[in-house]
Amino acid sequence: MSSKHQPIRHVAIVGGTHGNEITGVYLIKKYQNFVELLQGYDFSIELLTANSEAVAANKRYIDCDLNRSFKIEDLSNNSLLGYENQRAKEINQQLGPKGNSRVDFIVDLHTSTAPMGVNLVLLNDDPFHLKLADYVQQRMDNVTITWEQLPDHHFLMSIAPRHILIEVGATPQGSLRHKIFEQTEQATTHVLNFIEAYNKQELPVSSSSLEVYKYFDVMYLPQDSQGNIIGMVHDNIQDRDFGLLKTQDAIFKLFDGSDIVYEGEECYIAFINEAAYYDEKKAFSMAKRVVLSIG
Ligand SMILES: [Zn+2]
Repeated sequence: MSSKHQPIRHVAIVGGTHGNEITGVYLIKKYQNFVELLQGYDFSIELLTANSEAVAANKRYIDCDLNRSFKIEDLSNNSLLGYENQRAKEINQQLGPKGNSRVDFIVDLHTSTAPMGVNLVLLNDDPFHLKLADYVQQRMDNVTITWEQLPDHHFLMSIAPRHILIEVGATPQGSLRHKIFEQTEQATTHVLNFIEAYNKQELPVSSSSLEVYKYFDVMYLPQDSQGNIIGMVHDNIQDRDFGLLKTQDAIFKLFDGSDIVYEGEECYIAFINEAAYYDEKKAFSMAKRVVLSIG
């Protein structure tokens, strides 16, 4: 992004990208029913329930993960015929197309079954996105920032050049929790207020630097040679999202009673025992903590 000030004119707030993360689904419904909540901004706001079939089925997805379906090569691949591949193409038509999108900014609402607090996911580390994350973090408790940079990202929000994913937890899938709903709504309001201040060139002074977690690897659940799960996440790390994992810390308790210890280098871990990741048998994500200066 150039350093030239480019106002944001069209914002999309998206919920239900994962059909069983219903906090976002119901926040979208709330905005539809109480339209005054989104009035008064100097940009247009549209609302989208991204995966309504999965919402109706109370499942994360029907055929494949919608939030992994937005790489440019996949959007133009006509041999991908799953429901979500089709839906991704429709959403890309509606909000995009990716690379030259009608919408300037996308907020995508998610939840986690892990107690991550308010987790803001960035795909870019340019001053706009760092200032945005800093703005929200300065105004709410328990906000962590993760950064997942890829050349052509697969997330829905990557359709627009500017975006943020708000992921709040812990909440079970398919369930609404008051506090989680409120935190999601507050974070969304802060994002909209930031955009308004940005457009008016009235942003408050940001922090000089921002602490972000950058994922570098994933740990899988312990399995036998046939891929059967043979143990579980150890109580030693359960619910310690964004905590430090040290070499020789116990990470799995096997059904035979033995412990598996971590043998890699020190790192921070998140999405610990995330229910949504059992389809891929992932136990947790591993991250490095980096401090980025806000230019
Ligand atoms: Zn999600």
